[in-house]
Amino acid sequence: MLAIDGETKLTGIIGYPLRYTISPAFQNAAFEHLGLNWCYIPLVVEGDALKKAIEGIRALNFAGVNVTIPYKEAVLEYLDELTSTAELVEAVNTILVREGKLIGYNTDGRGFITMLQKDMEFDPKDKRALIVGAGGAARAVAVSLALEGCAEIYILNRTRERAFDLARAICNKFPYCLTQAIDFEADLLNIFNRVDLIVNATPVGTDISTDETPVSPDLLNEGHLVCDLIYSPPETQLLKEAKRVGARAINGVGMLLYQGAASFEIWTDAEAPIEIMRKAIFEALELKER
Ligand code: NAP
Repeated sequence: MLAIDGETKLTGIIGYPLRYTISPAFQNAAFEHLGLNWCYIPLVVEGDALKKAIEGIRALNFAGVNVTIPYKEAVLEYLDELTSTAELVEAVNTILVREGKLIGYNTDGRGFITMLQKDMEFDPKDKRALIVGAGGAARAVAVSLALEGCAEIYILNRTRERAFDLARAICNKFPYCLTQAIDFEADLLNIFNRVDLIVNATPVGTDISTDETPVSPDLLNEGHLVCDLIYSPPETQLLKEAKRVGARAINGVGMLLYQGAASFEIWTDAEAPIEIMRKAIFEALELKER
């Protein structure tokens, strides 16, 4: 058990609502495993209280915090500095407090890439990817793939304009990566046959009462690596369909784990105990699924 005293270093997660967050479970498991006198708590911030909450982080001497939905973009204006990745993604999921300054990082994309590399032995360099969705997660994934030298990125989204906006932003920042927005009327089979990696960055599949998939399963083939950023349920209908056609399939646990591990390392300067954190995530998810 963590013993909290006057020396305990504070971290946590700012968001709303935080009913289902499992970050406290795996961050505290990591602190405990390494014998660090640190703790990680949920910080529920409602309505227009974000500015005050961020000032509170500074005033209360927090070592840092994570930021989640719906504040990853809104928090930018309250920070003193941004890393180049956070600037590219235009969103922050990790704040480090250093000498009273608030520094914004984005570790979501790094988490996604580490998951591909470590858990799937997939190197995005010179590969072709298709992302379904054009929200915050899609943006972090697209930037990180472009940074890794991905050759082509296709963005498919329910709201066409958002796909075009994201594709334009990636084209402007990474001219060597051919990025194109497509819509559901396009020749999808042709594009799916061209790509190596398919990423679901929409919440479609979260609701287990339906067998909805973000794209038609008929478009999948055995050459694909299909990655669903959803981690609860652990196997969405999309992942089931991917496995059925012989494709490789992975859920979003790895991204959650590695983005959290990167935050942990930014705050503590200690190496994150990955397997301890992974085990704590599985235990927390198991409790949640019950
Ligand atoms: P977001 O910013 O709200 O974006 C959601 C995206 O999904 C938008 O492109 C939206 O399309 C699309 N979408 C929403 N409902 C849809 C529906 N019913 N049909 C088709 N498209 C729909 O959310 P986000 O932060 O990017 O998160 C997206 C997903 O990734 C969530 O499931 C989240 O849990 C997951 N995620 C996982 C991790 C991880 O660590 N594993 C990290 C971040 C996010 P429109 O533009 O048309 O609204």
